[in-house]
Amino acid sequence: MIRLEPHGPVVRAEFSTARTRLIGITVSCYLHKGVVVDTAFPDVRHWYRDWLTASRAVGVMVTHHHEDHAGNVNSVAKLGLPAWIAPATMARIRDVEPIGFYRHFTWRQMRSLTREVMPFDPAPLVPIATPGHAHDHHVLWDPLEEILFAGDLFLGVKVRVAHADEDPRALVASLRACARLRPRMLFCAHRGNVPEPVAALSAKADWLEHTIGEVDRLADAGWTDAAIQRAVLGREDVTGYFSFGDYSRVNLVKAIRATRAAKTD
Ligand SMILES: [Zn+2]
Repeated sequence: MIRLEPHGPVVRAEFSTARTRLIGITVSCYLHKGVVVDTAFPDVRHWYRDWLTASRAVGVMVTHHHEDHAGNVNSVAKLGLPAWIAPATMARIRDVEPIGFYRHFTWRQMRSLTREVMPFDPAPLVPIATPGHAHDHHVLWDPLEEILFAGDLFLGVKVRVAHADEDPRALVASLRACARLRPRMLFCAHRGNVPEPVAALSAKADWLEHTIGEVDRLADAGWTDAAIQRAVLGREDVTGYFSFGDYSRVNLVKAIRATRAAKTD
């Protein structure tokens, strides 16, 4: 289903299915100044296509390659709408890797993009590289109205789970860079409108930086990933078990450890 929610000049389109509501997660795309941010997930492709058609958007911007953001790029191409897609994102969605059970259950597997996509310049909105959650992650910034479309940059202050390929140190830098923009409004792909954006971005950067410091300290002392996870992040919760460890607390420890070499070089 789709639920529309106006926020001043911005329209939030929140997509969900019985499965995503069961897990307690929805995915939001946004329409602002004729630009649609993201394409939702494969299981809602009919809802997305109908909304995109009705929205009279002039183009689409894709924040990153995950299937709950890039899941319907094929529909965008089919409708003949242009899209801004970073080269690194394009490479991933032209050759989609198989996903684990829980991601398939939640979103359905997305198909590789086979059609040509017309390039799109979202000006006056500006895509900004914000690696961390994913290497190809971009936010979309409206410098005139000071509105930030954050994709998966924020998600929450204390996000204790991660995918193994995330870069938490890069995420801290991206969060600080976005806080320095001093956004007046922030729209998250899963949380919707986030109040007090500068404080929220800074609080997340502070918590994550502190967590990285703790993990580094225990790793230096020779602790195992599992022991560090229990001491710093606590036990795995239902997300960790349901995803068979794919999206888990121990992966946040592993991701911090994996990016340690760069820190000490
Ligand atoms: Zn993501």
